[in-house]
Amino acid sequence: MTDVLTAAGAPASTLPQSRHLATAIPGPRSQALHQERQAHVTGGFGVVLPVFVDRADGGILQDVDGNRLIDFASGIAVTSIGASHPRVRERVAAQLEKFTHTCFMVTEYESFTQVARWLNEHTPGDFEKRTALFSTGAEAVENAVKIARAATGRSKVLVFDEAYHGRSLLTMAMTAKENPYRLGFGPFPAEVVRAASANPLRPGAGHHDVGAHASAADVTAAALASTEATLAEHGADNFAAMVIEPIQGEGGFVVPAPGFLAGLRKIADRYGIILVIDEIQAGMGRTGTLFASEHEGVAGDITLTAKALAGGLPLSAVTGRAELMNAVHAGGLGGTYAGNPLACEAALAVFEAFEDGTLLANARAIEAAAREVLEPLVTETEAVAEFRGRGAMLALEFADRGTLAPRADLAKEVSARCHAQGVLTLTCGTYGNVIRLLPPLVIGQDLLADGLQVLRQTILDVTAEHGAPNAAARA
Ligand SMILES: *Cc1c(COP(=O)(O)O)cnc(C)c1O
Repeated sequence: MTDVLTAAGAPASTLPQSRHLATAIPGPRSQALHQERQAHVTGGFGVVLPVFVDRADGGILQDVDGNRLIDFASGIAVTSIGASHPRVRERVAAQLEKFTHTCFMVTEYESFTQVARWLNEHTPGDFEKRTALFSTGAEAVENAVKIARAATGRSKVLVFDEAYHGRSLLTMAMTAKENPYRLGFGPFPAEVVRAASANPLRPGAGHHDVGAHASAADVTAAALASTEATLAEHGADNFAAMVIEPIQGEGGFVVPAPGFLAGLRKIADRYGIILVIDEIQAGMGRTGTLFASEHEGVAGDITLTAKALAGGLPLSAVTGRAELMNAVHAGGLGGTYAGNPLACEAALAVFEAFEDGTLLANARAIEAAAREVLEPLVTETEAVAEFRGRGAMLALEFADRGTLAPRADLAKEVSARCHAQGVLTLTCGTYGNVIRLLPPLVIGQDLLADGLQVLRQTILDVTAEHGAPNAAARA
């Protein structure tokens, strides 16, 4: 047990970096606060774990009952550099002393420009860029569509199976999964068309029949053929943009088969369609490179960032080719809070934290540690179909080995038991049968190892109890 993070490059922590259970989870204070919440807050918000957080730092969430939970969620890939990184605290506190808001459309401040400059210099694509800042990821997606339409004079938008792009009306239309994201909220904006994704485990789900055990090259070829067919059907010349996540987030941490993104790049070029890469969840260092599209050597015409961009403060960005970004008439883009100065200072702190490369190395080290502990489960149990992901964006898919029938029941049970033991995991996926890991990049080695062991043993226990026979002896 140590008071200091052991991960290289991580600042000394203000919270003990060890798991600690003082009460049952959730504890009595959290339960009381949750009751009060239910009296005042809309029931439309779900909650993964009804625990009220008092402090958070490094890889630890400390709740109001004094429990310390291991954070494998990072507030959904937001607090990659920790939830109270000293640089973020210092920069935001200094800005608070000066002013909180002017509205960048009314009077200007320099940090907005500096954030734009960093993104222009660091996002993939060796061309002149401009950046627009907003507050949420959905806003960034919506504005990318506005910009692509203004620049091309076309209206349609191509999206993909298992996509998640947000909860506003347009981005709900772009998101694939009905329940909970779209259910009851239609009708949706028109002109959004969906093609198959290149999901290596479940190739062609819903769109084309590749057959089980298809090679990665077959999966890529079939998914690209689906894109071509969809474009032909709807008229390729009618498409302003195609929008793709380099690794799909809410849809199940699906890493597309190799060559799919590069193939989309070629198709987009052939038909004059703007390629928008939604790096909102996978970007900003999460996968061991600054941007996940770098793994495939592909640059979008427009790259979207949000989530981890500003260390927990609300900030999103649309970064793209200068001629596209400047195709919009003056005054056509904006928003009252777009690029709020506190959030811009936080983003500048995040950029500083990434400067020496340690955090990217940490992401890769997290992958190596998790792979060692979790990947054997694929052969040791009958119900873990795949371990996948990149860097600190990792997932286990639960499904019966032979049929691939999804086992959401197992994912839910494993997650619930991890929560009870003080390890915060999230689920995701079209079938809700995926457990995803999004630890902060500053999590210490000991803490990471503890959390991974809890998860591993819980999976062995739950799969054994549920009649999914384990091939290997229990750990
Ligand atoms: C979270 C997310 C969004 C939406 O971001 P919000 O800030 O919740 O609006 C869009 N795209 C992807 C890939 C995301 O993960």
